[in-house]
Amino acid sequence: MQTFQQYIGGAFEDAGASFASLDPATGKPWAQMPSASAADVDRAVRAAEAAFFSADWAGMTATQRGKLLMRLADLVAENAPRLARLETRDTGKIIRETSAQIAYVAEYYRYYAGLADKIEGAHLPIDKPDMEVWLRREPVGVVAAIVPWNSQLFLSAVKIGPALAAGCTVVLKASEEGPAPMLEFARIFDQAGFPPGVLNVITGGPEAGAALTSHASVAHVAFTGGPETARHIVRNSAENLASTSLELGGKSPFIVFDDADLESAVNAQVSGIFAATGQSCVAGSRLVIQKGIKDAFLARLKEKAEAVVIGAPDDMATEVGPLCTLKQRDHALRLIEASVAAGAELVTGGTAADGEGFYFPPTVLDCSAAPTAPCLSTEFFGPVLSVVSFETEAEALEIANTTAFGLASGVFTRHLTCAHRMIRGIRAGIVWVNTYRAVSPIAPFGGHGLSGHGREGGLQAALDYTKVKAVWLRTSDEAIPDPFVMR
Ligand code: NAD
Repeated sequence: MQTFQQYIGGAFEDAGASFASLDPATGKPWAQMPSASAADVDRAVRAAEAAFFSADWAGMTATQRGKLLMRLADLVAENAPRLARLETRDTGKIIRETSAQIAYVAEYYRYYAGLADKIEGAHLPIDKPDMEVWLRREPVGVVAAIVPWNSQLFLSAVKIGPALAAGCTVVLKASEEGPAPMLEFARIFDQAGFPPGVLNVITGGPEAGAALTSHASVAHVAFTGGPETARHIVRNSAENLASTSLELGGKSPFIVFDDADLESAVNAQVSGIFAATGQSCVAGSRLVIQKGIKDAFLARLKEKAEAVVIGAPDDMATEVGPLCTLKQRDHALRLIEASVAAGAELVTGGTAADGEGFYFPPTVLDCSAAPTAPCLSTEFFGPVLSVVSFETEAEALEIANTTAFGLASGVFTRHLTCAHRMIRGIRAGIVWVNTYRAVSPIAPFGGHGLSGHGREGGLQAALDYTKVKAVWLRTSDEAIPDPFVMR
């Protein structure tokens, strides 16, 4: 069995304990992963803290940091096929998607490499004649980055990229479900030439996560995961008063009007809910469809869902692979059962395939007769779509906004003014119009409500890893007058 090591202070090492990682395609162990103890977490944070204040890192210019990030981007691009194979092996995400996604992850590092020396301070037109006042943007400090299993290289790039561009140092805790790509990424990072301790990569479960996010030397926690874990993170941050950015789940509406391009909208819906086997935070998991197009749309969707190629994740022909964990599959089955009991109707799928691995087929639930079915409000994080229909635009908006989440949304219409009204009315961090699941390092990504807060990607994300220092410089040569009068 292959063995992976953690990366602390620029050295690869075994942890005190280890655990077996399962191959989701077979359900069998395939590699041994290091399980970070509280002492390992402490060493990792101390290594990051030492690096943060070291002359090697703190003394580096922003341009030099940018060059290192650019080198990292090149290394990620060169190694993308190998990283993709590992992610596919350890998480079950299909090779077709990991290959393309990881090659694109390099672009995120390139974007933040270019941004490093464009993070500017400001000069203030202060209301005193003998003062110069300006603002310095300084890195916040040690960042704890925590990611879930899906798209770990992508979800960590949107944290590591802006954090290092800003001059922070990072301890990244990979998910205990499928950490292989992150532990291998550490080896690639090591070749880029950063000073030791600038990035540390560990893995482990809630104990390691709690030790990391409550550590006294952590200044910011960048978390991606579920809302329940986010509540723990926020409680943990009561210990160190670290700032947090939370990228959580969703129950995103995918709204289709009668006048939409049927074929294009169906394809986008297939991508929005079945790609990545539905394990996507932005999954368009609620189809909100106008009555006039509903039957045609569902017929075409059913046809496409049933034609999806389900198979081994490392086969380029596969379109839907296994779920990452058995727990995910059990959750999907339970939620479907409860929703059918509440009146939802299965259009296709709904039962787990026999045989090894954590496979689950594309599933569609028509909730026309069950507007309160739990599948409409609870995240599956699997390939399960729930359908509701509407007649008027106002109704569509009301259904779209009936959710505790607020991450993504899609609107399909050729009607320009309708699209604009929907864009304004939808309460979500992302609105895709006549497209879905498009991302770029240039565009911020994030939501509100149970979908969390903060944005990843774009310029603002780098600024979030900085704090402002106000500098006052008196330009007068006269002695300071009355010391009891505030200046
Ligand atoms: P999860 O919340 O169970 O785990 C996420 C990470 O948190 C893991 O690394 C885990 O070890 C760690 N963790 C668990 N308990 C912890 C604790 N007490 N303290 C600190 N860390 C702890 O999430 P998951 O089930 O692995 O992932 C699925 C969730 O992630 C879904 O809700 C999905 O929507 C969300 N997600 C969001 C985005 C986004 O960008 N908004 C992207 C991908 C996934």
